[in-house]
Amino acid sequence: MSTKILIVEDEAAIQELITYNLQQAGYQTTSAEDAEKAMALVNQALPDLILLDWMLPKMSGVEFARILRQNDRTKLIPIIMLTARTEESDKIKGLEIGADDYVTKPFSPRELVARINAVLRRRAPEASDQVVEIDQLRLNPSDHRVTVNQQEIVLGPTEYRLLHFMMTHTDRVYSRGQLLDRVWGDHVFVEERTVDVHIRRLRKALQLVGKDDLIQTVRGSGYRFSVGIEHN
Ligand code: CA
Repeated sequence: MSTKILIVEDEAAIQELITYNLQQAGYQTTSAEDAEKAMALVNQALPDLILLDWMLPKMSGVEFARILRQNDRTKLIPIIMLTARTEESDKIKGLEIGADDYVTKPFSPRELVARINAVLRRRAPEASDQVVEIDQLRLNPSDHRVTVNQQEIVLGPTEYRLLHFMMTHTDRVYSRGQLLDRVWGDHVFVEERTVDVHIRRLRKALQLVGKDDLIQTVRGSGYRFSVGIEHN
């Protein structure tokens, strides 16, 4: 599943340049030239990250970021502000409204990709391509392989995404609803017991290598991925 980035930029040349470079870097992109169109895209499907130009026609990027942060569904989307401004006070303003980073134009495409990767690693590790390894269980997002001591574990696509999410969000209990939002995507209407079905499949696959204990059921709450916690 490739990472989806929404580019909100009214200057066509810059929008094209960013789109080209992000696609070269393996990202999936959508773009909008103003906040209203961007909101329509966000309403269809949540992006993994938004690149948001500060100066937009009609509603400014800052105003749009503020709206995204006030809304429960969108408040956690990582945002990187793009701006021609170099004033320190503007930078502070951008970060105050909850932007995760701030890139000043003109920027090199390489720098932009590096910043995006850094924000994703921090904010949405399941959307980055970093290898995760916990208790000898190793998940490599670049080739989708899951192994324990080089022995490969075969997983379906949903089990893979579920495991990736859980391995990057350890030691915390997630309810079925939260897992649906984060792994299946919001706006997806699936019953909560679907989560149980996939957890069961995932555990079965992990059982073959003796790692099913890493996923714990927390009665009445949901599931947790954790090493060495007493459970029953
Ligand atoms: Ca602009």
